[in-house]
Amino acid sequence: MAQYRDVYMDNAATTYCNGEVFFAMQPYFISSFGTPDSLHQIGADAKQAIDDARASVARIINADPEEIYFTSGATEANNWLIKGIVEAAEIKRVIVSEIEHPSIIETTRWLAANGVEVDYVKVDENGIISIPDLLAKLAKPACLVSVMTANHEVGTVQYINTIANICAQNGVYFHTDATQAIDSVHIDVKEMDITALSLSGHKIYGPKGVGALYLKKGTRIATFMHGGNQEHGYRAGTYNVPAIVGLGKAVEICMRDNNVNNARIKQLRDYFIKEVESKIPAVKLNGHRTQRLANNVNFSFQAIEGESITTLLALQGICAATGSASSNEWLSRSHVLQAMGVSDEMINGSVRFTLGRSTTKEDIDYTVEHLIAVVHRLRAMSPLKIGGTKNV
Ligand code: PMP
Repeated sequence: MAQYRDVYMDNAATTYCNGEVFFAMQPYFISSFGTPDSLHQIGADAKQAIDDARASVARIINADPEEIYFTSGATEANNWLIKGIVEAAEIKRVIVSEIEHPSIIETTRWLAANGVEVDYVKVDENGIISIPDLLAKLAKPACLVSVMTANHEVGTVQYINTIANICAQNGVYFHTDATQAIDSVHIDVKEMDITALSLSGHKIYGPKGVGALYLKKGTRIATFMHGGNQEHGYRAGTYNVPAIVGLGKAVEICMRDNNVNNARIKQLRDYFIKEVESKIPAVKLNGHRTQRLANNVNFSFQAIEGESITTLLALQGICAATGSASSNEWLSRSHVLQAMGVSDEMINGSVRFTLGRSTTKEDIDYTVEHLIAVVHRLRAMSPLKIGGTKNV
């Protein structure tokens, strides 16, 4: 067995904060600590820093800077967007996909409990939104459609351009949660006619507790946070200047380096998939094989529990995640895999590995080596069988 090493493959949960980002934030804690509304120089420095960060976030999706609103993260952006659009709309009906993140699903459940009509669009076995189902649901008027750009569990990337087009033709606002996709999927909100988009700092090597909502000019939405006139009065509260600066820097680094980073990560992803599929029997890759995020690998291992796999891998220093346990991130036992029609046994055996900028080929080889051993050990103890015979 190879020597012990720490392997972090849970980058969809959160990423480390990039050193350049950290150093860009530092002065805004100590010397340039003002708030942008103050009239003195320390305030002016903070204002300039926020303006620059807003311009960077706008640039990555080709929005105008005044269409970017800073929030505490994607959860807040998603909550505000959906509740705010519904509150301001005459037609209180929203359509979302059934594989959205809990920050969308739970928000729509709350709205449904409060008299709003909510419809969930189906996905196929790869997690791709059913366009016929979306069209059927749009036959009845709605104020908003929300479909995530890419899924946090299985990495499937949607045909956002097509969905945005359909919404524009039907005169319905279209929102996409791009939290997992902003650093690897090209999005042009003007060209694609996207009404709103959410993103978060800590998925792109920025700080936690900061994100943004892009909102197309003229969109009718209710105020989220009442108070001062920050963010055009829609989202009051003193600016978290260091975090906003960090988000801006993280986005700049994405625009600068991501072609190189993603090409390398994608190659490692494909190598990992090939290794596992050729060396471990009774394994299923969840999500679309090609229409998927560069860093996402999600496998179901037959006859064993994802929780046991991740626990044993953690003992070897390998960080992965599972949808078989019920947690906030995955709702109840992966609603995503359920919507894709994955069997209960295979949902129980699912494990997500999300690669990142620090992942190396040695990390993959080390993980595969331990995965083979862990799967073998668990299957030897499992009462379940593969293909009618006792497990190997
Ligand atoms: N949407 C998606 C797709 C996510 O993956 C996450 C984070 N797991 C969120 C929203 C919530 O983001 P935040 O942590 O910034 O609130």
